[in-house]
Amino acid sequence: AIAPTASSRAPTAATHKTPRKKEKLSSLCKTPPSLIKSRTGDHFARGSCLGEGGFARCFQVKNDAGKTYAAKTVAKESVRNEKTKNKLLAEIKIHKSLKHPNIVEFVDCFEDDHNVYILLEMCSNQSMMEMLRARKGFTEGEAKYYMVQILGAINFMHRRRVIHRDLKLGNIFLDEHMHVKIGDFGLATVLDKPTDRRVTICGTPNYIAPEVLAGKHKGHSFEVDIWSAGVILFTMVTGKPPFQSKDVETIYQRIKKNDWKFPADLPISSECKDLVRQMLVGDPHQRINLANILKHPFFFTDFPASIHPQAAKLRQPETR
Ligand code: ADP
Repeated sequence: AIAPTASSRAPTAATHKTPRKKEKLSSLCKTPPSLIKSRTGDHFARGSCLGEGGFARCFQVKNDAGKTYAAKTVAKESVRNEKTKNKLLAEIKIHKSLKHPNIVEFVDCFEDDHNVYILLEMCSNQSMMEMLRARKGFTEGEAKYYMVQILGAINFMHRRRVIHRDLKLGNIFLDEHMHVKIGDFGLATVLDKPTDRRVTICGTPNYIAPEVLAGKHKGHSFEVDIWSAGVILFTMVTGKPPFQSKDVETIYQRIKKNDWKFPADLPISSECKDLVRQMLVGDPHQRINLANILKHPFFFTDFPASIHPQAAKLRQPETR
């Protein structure tokens, strides 16, 4: 993800590339002790490393009762400067305030001499990014199932004036039951008033809304999450993000020109195409809003049985 910057310029490939591995702040993260003690005296046995982001390393941990959690571990050394520290505190405050079945549960937060630990609900089936990599694409039925949960969580956040600003397949985690859990509130922001605007440029290249790239002039708001959700839906049903390109600058150019199309060889329903088109409208004021997305025919139309025989079988009337 691109960290927020105060710059008013649109990001360029040179200034906003994902940091190279050796520059990652998460590399400063010391392996936690085999037994991590919380503020309240609970003990957590450290297990394997679940993954690494730009900022944190995540470990599987188990409490005395045998319950497993994910401990997002941030090296204190990487949050020494005031700005980074405030960013981490903001992430904790926002995440802590959001309790919803489709948002990764924030359990606790504590520290030792080296690290800050954010204890989270364990999502044992990784994220939708890994799932897409393994599956290459999803059926429209699956896309509906996941999108309804993603949109429910976005609706919940937006009602609390929280904009996530980094919605992407890699931040949509899956629990043991394959339920969607939105995570990583590292770029999230809360608006004091719903009419406020944000001007910092942040996000992940493939998912950034055009108004974010336009920069300081007009600012951006809740609609950026709708755009990213549109990119997510497109990616689910086609297997590839709509603005994909080998260099970041070309991705940004394509986003600004709204240059994308559905692959001609895929049997995508007209309802699905229509919804994606409305979510990827360049002007945020013309973009479809959440209430209308949830009323869209895509969510009330079955995937054609002729293309999805498995679905047809499931829809056969009960014979007994
Ligand atoms: P960063 O803020 O540094 O990007 P993330 O929140 O993305 O860190 O976490 C880094 C990695 O840890 C993720 O890519 C994922 O592999 C893993 N991870 C994060 N949260 C969880 C969780 N709740 N359950 C399981 N794995 C997780």
